[in-house]
Amino acid sequence: MANLLTPWVYQTRPFQIFGNLYFVGTQPASTHLIDTGDGLVIIDPGYQEYLYMVLENIRTLGFNPQDIRYLVHSHGHIDHAGATRALAELTGAKTFIGKGDRPMVVGEVPLTCDIELKTHFNHFEPDHILHDGDHIRLGNLDMECIATPGHTPGTFSFFWNITKDGRTVRAGMMGGAGMNTLASAYIHKYHLEAENWRGMMQRSIPRCRQEHVDLFVGNHAGQNDTFGKQKRLEAGDTNAFVQPDDWTRFLDGLQRRLDDVIANDPI
Ligand SMILES: [Zn+2]
Repeated sequence: MANLLTPWVYQTRPFQIFGNLYFVGTQPASTHLIDTGDGLVIIDPGYQEYLYMVLENIRTLGFNPQDIRYLVHSHGHIDHAGATRALAELTGAKTFIGKGDRPMVVGEVPLTCDIELKTHFNHFEPDHILHDGDHIRLGNLDMECIATPGHTPGTFSFFWNITKDGRTVRAGMMGGAGMNTLASAYIHKYHLEAENWRGMMQRSIPRCRQEHVDLFVGNHAGQNDTFGKQKRLEAGDTNAFVQPDDWTRFLDGLQRRLDDVIANDPI
């Protein structure tokens, strides 16, 4: 039976999304690679138990994991940052995470997720703390980092240009869309300040709307139909991922889900 401790069930084929952006695994959380021309950037290393597949995927695409220089996190939960310590130790890459999620990745507060799933989290001290409006620059990459708290206090969203054959598109990732951390049961379990988290999400959604995004990058495959688009891409649709309506449609859905939580799940 499939569960998170049988990672091979969630193996995925790596592929080039657009230009220098690649999908390198896995399910249920997504790991992306950007080839900056001056080293590799990983967004969300994923679960520690899944790292062997991510490394194999990176090699399959013709890259050397030792060329990874930056590990950037959408937020500090175990499905995004569980592999970070191991990958940083392996490659010497520097880690970036939002200020609000530092306490969870260094172990000062509980991870507030997935503890019952028994995957491993090795704590790490981030090399760089992200603040709203920061830019991560390396090679051809200039990534704008926007604080969009709600799913966690330190959730960040990322926006950057990708140029391919003289054509530039704007890529964007919303760093934390899960309503699981805003549910009343969750809030009571972890003694969170509920109104704050729901209120933060309420502000983060319109903040994301201010950004123009041509290529919506999901940190979970379901957000942007990663695998459906992979099929279309491999069938010859080179613009499968460049869908300017995706971003607002996703944010509309997110707002509806938040409204539903607030209306139907009082604290
Ligand atoms: Zn999360």
